[in-house]
Amino acid sequence: MQCEEVRPRLDAYLDGELAEAESTLFRGHLESCPDCGPEIAALERLRDGIRRAAPDYRAPAELRSRIRFALRRETAANPSWGLRAPGWLAYAASLLLAVAVGSGGTRLITNESQENTMPTR
Ligand SMILES: [Zn+2]
Repeated sequence: MQCEEVRPRLDAYLDGELAEAESTLFRGHLESCPDCGPEIAALERLRDGIRRAAPDYRAPAELRSRIRFALRRETAANPSWGLRAPGWLAYAASLLLAVAVGSGGTRLITNESQENTMPTR
């Protein structure tokens, strides 16, 4: 497996979205590659840090795949730019949106329950 195949899908690997056989190939590459190994370690630290800070916020799978699709189109248009940071960007963008969606959803739920507790007469 080559770095060029691994890099655009590091986030999918981290999210456990790859098939078992592919995931094994990824793990093999990440353990032996001096470039991708540190990158996945950094991504894992970022993910864990953000999960600790905001454990309840997670974008719907459909939204995340739409973001990933948009970013892939972007990196395909700018290959040199894409090789440097596709995993980081895709992950950061989906997390930002997850937080935005999550807090919006929480506010909606909060408003609704406040209305429910208000006296009806
Ligand atoms: Zn590599």
